[in-house]
Amino acid sequence: MDYPGNLFVVAAPSGAGKSSLVKALMELDARVQPSVSHTTRPPRGQEKHGREYFFVSAQEFDAMVLAGSFVEWAHVHGHRYGTSKKAIEERIAHGQDVILEIDFQGALQIKRIFTNAVLIFILPPSWEELRSRLERRGEDTPEVIELRMENAATEMSQAREFDFVIINELFERALFDLKTIVHAQRLKFSSQRRARADTFQALAIL
Ligand code: 5GP
Repeated sequence: MDYPGNLFVVAAPSGAGKSSLVKALMELDARVQPSVSHTTRPPRGQEKHGREYFFVSAQEFDAMVLAGSFVEWAHVHGHRYGTSKKAIEERIAHGQDVILEIDFQGALQIKRIFTNAVLIFILPPSWEELRSRLERRGEDTPEVIELRMENAATEMSQAREFDFVIINELFERALFDLKTIVHAQRLKFSSQRRARADTFQALAIL
């Protein structure tokens, strides 16, 4: 279906800097809104229900799956995560742009349903840099870091399925790349015709 708002889907292995980039984009551009996912994993640190995620029980998640409330859902690192229809459809139907920070399985499911969705994959500049970012973050034990490195290989092999690739070597450069993708999408004929309907009408462009 063709909605007036754009749908951007960002995936990356953990440690590639996906969350910081998406956060910085949303701070610069109020037209880009986050989609809040549901998850069965427990909240971490300062996370708040309804802000980072809707934290739900396995039973609640099952009920939503049965009710067909999710556009996509997947098992990631031992928990379930899903994007509800509600989190995105209302917004893009009203012309807002929505950005999804989800794993590659979810991203590919989204593309099947929303064929105009823009899939963006964030890569680290090297294996060494990915490992040192995970170590510097200090969140994980050495075993978990090993697991994340193994998962990264599987995730990165999916990058070819995505529309755009950003190599996050220098943060500012990667942010510029992300802004450029969003901007280019808004310059597409169909977006421009919608956003500048008066101009198009005055110029007799149908
Ligand atoms: P975390 O638990 O660290 O916040 O997220 C773990 C992984 O789950 C990340 O790769 C994140 O992008 C992914 N994820 C978060 N929400 C969703 C979702 O709604 N669907 C899918 N498929 N993956 C998600």
